[in-house]
Amino acid sequence: MIYLDNAATTRVKPEVFEAMQPYFTEQYGNPSSAYAFSGKIAQQVDASRKAIADFIGANPNEVYFTGGGSESDNWALKGLACSLKNKGKHIITTKIEHHAILHTAEFLEKQGLDVTYLNVDADGKIDLKELEEAIRPDTILISVMFANNEIGTIEPIKEISEIAHKHGILFHTDAVQAFGHVKIDVNELGIDLMSTSGHKINAPKGIGFLYIRKGIKIEPLIHGGAQERGMRAGTTNAASIIGFGAAVKLAEETLASRTEYEVKLRDHLIERVLAEIPYTRLNGHRTDRLPNNANFCFRFIEGESLLILLDRAGICGSSGSACTSGSLDPSHVLLAIGLPHEIAHGSLRLTLSEETTMEDIDYTVDKLKDIVGKLRSMSPLYEDFVKKQKEAK
Ligand SMILES: *Cc1c(COP(=O)(O)O)cnc(C)c1O
Repeated sequence: MIYLDNAATTRVKPEVFEAMQPYFTEQYGNPSSAYAFSGKIAQQVDASRKAIADFIGANPNEVYFTGGGSESDNWALKGLACSLKNKGKHIITTKIEHHAILHTAEFLEKQGLDVTYLNVDADGKIDLKELEEAIRPDTILISVMFANNEIGTIEPIKEISEIAHKHGILFHTDAVQAFGHVKIDVNELGIDLMSTSGHKINAPKGIGFLYIRKGIKIEPLIHGGAQERGMRAGTTNAASIIGFGAAVKLAEETLASRTEYEVKLRDHLIERVLAEIPYTRLNGHRTDRLPNNANFCFRFIEGESLLILLDRAGICGSSGSACTSGSLDPSHVLLAIGLPHEIAHGSLRLTLSEETTMEDIDYTVDKLKDIVGKLRSMSPLYEDFVKKQKEAK
């Protein structure tokens, strides 16, 4: 099997699994309990929080563990909408956010908030002028994703935070795809709140954190016990937090070499596909994109058929995102970058990892060429198109 869907989820690294294992069967105490048996576990949770905080240039007490990216996104938006309700009721976000942001924003609209959804250009970048013009006296939050999960485009985070702060507005970023893949220093970039998720960087599913800059008042999303300094109730998920810390340390150590390796593979993949498969476009910014992301549209092809045939060849890819697959609507991200429905339908996202090899990439492109050719040969639309092209000559 060739796994090229690392934006959907990643493998738990053996080192990460090993670090977690004792906390299931041996060190199973509740980290909040008073005896030494639990105290040792609490120390490991703290060490993990410290490693993660160091990685993003934050203070450990600005890191709040959650149940993952979706919860962090929900918390940032709902928590601030609640704590800042006397300041205003307007939020600015973008049309290309993950559904964890978009559906939360839609929920808040039903509660009476106003939401502006910024457009993006053909590469998937927001327009800073449009952002500034969207700001109102009652704007409480700007939430723009760090990097898009479908097309990989990286947004101008520092410029966005500067605009937000010039107007006294908080800036949240969904960095689930960027975290561990792109260097992030929350102070350098002016990030006030940031969502991340463990399972996108070789930690288990169901763990993440929300970075909340010191001094920001936010209502908890999960009420109950006093865990996470009273801000996120629920018995501390020690094993997952410790695994997340181990994954972050690995990501930090390998960031430079991994980026260089993945960019080489990614660019080889992009260059071969564009050169060898006609009527194909690359989606997302050519250079300001995640090191492991490639996203294409093949004209006259249904993304779903493509995925099935790739699967038969042992290749795991995705069409749009895992969250929208199963629905027949084309991706909201591809529509936002201006693609017509029929072209957006023929999309394929391939996201690699440091475990992917050049042979994997070459095998994938060879198969892809065959499959696209086969599907087009069965397409009446393609036949028409070729006929018209011939007539035009
Ligand atoms: C995967 C993802 C999420 C959701 O994270 P979970 O931990 O799966 O809840 C949110 N935002 C982006 C950009 C993602 O890629």
